[in-house]
Amino acid sequence: MLHRPLIQHCKSCGNKVVYRLPDDGDTKERAVCTACSTIHYENPLNVVGTVPIWGDKVLLCKRNIEPRLGKWTLPAGFMELGETVAQGAARETTEEAGAQFEMDELFTLINVTRVGQVHFFYRAKLTSDQFDPGHETQEARLFAEHEIPWEEIAFRTVKETLLHYFADAKTGKFQFHHLDIA
Ligand SMILES: [Zn+2]
Repeated sequence: MLHRPLIQHCKSCGNKVVYRLPDDGDTKERAVCTACSTIHYENPLNVVGTVPIWGDKVLLCKRNIEPRLGKWTLPAGFMELGETVAQGAARETTEEAGAQFEMDELFTLINVTRVGQVHFFYRAKLTSDQFDPGHETQEARLFAEHEIPWEEIAFRTVKETLLHYFADAKTGKFQFHHLDIA
């Protein structure tokens, strides 16, 4: 079951759309324009980010924008056209935290089927503990595991990624984790 805003108007001509099976044999209902018959395909979006690491600490950003204003998150955002997953994750880390870092391996891939998103988090090695957050971030700071504000984490994918990070850190061996969130 997908919960996100449905398309109301045609992106080509602005007339109303209806959800129905297209005439081309497609087996899924699509938003089809009642005037020009344009079919609007909707597909999952990629959210890309990092787990920036400094010693035994992780960098979190306090959100300055909705949704979840004032809650803490790992730097992450929607992937843009023309970039790779890793480039997008690095870009978001620069934009939201103003951090200096080196990208490491892909750490989590989390399907969030209910909202039609796939979230990817890479580990990143911070090369400085000085940050210069952008307008989307109120504050960027480092947290040891016992300092993490678990009740104030903005998104479940961030919480799951942090839990896996600190669990792996205890073993000293970081693995790739693939999860599905209902
Ligand atoms: Zn149309």
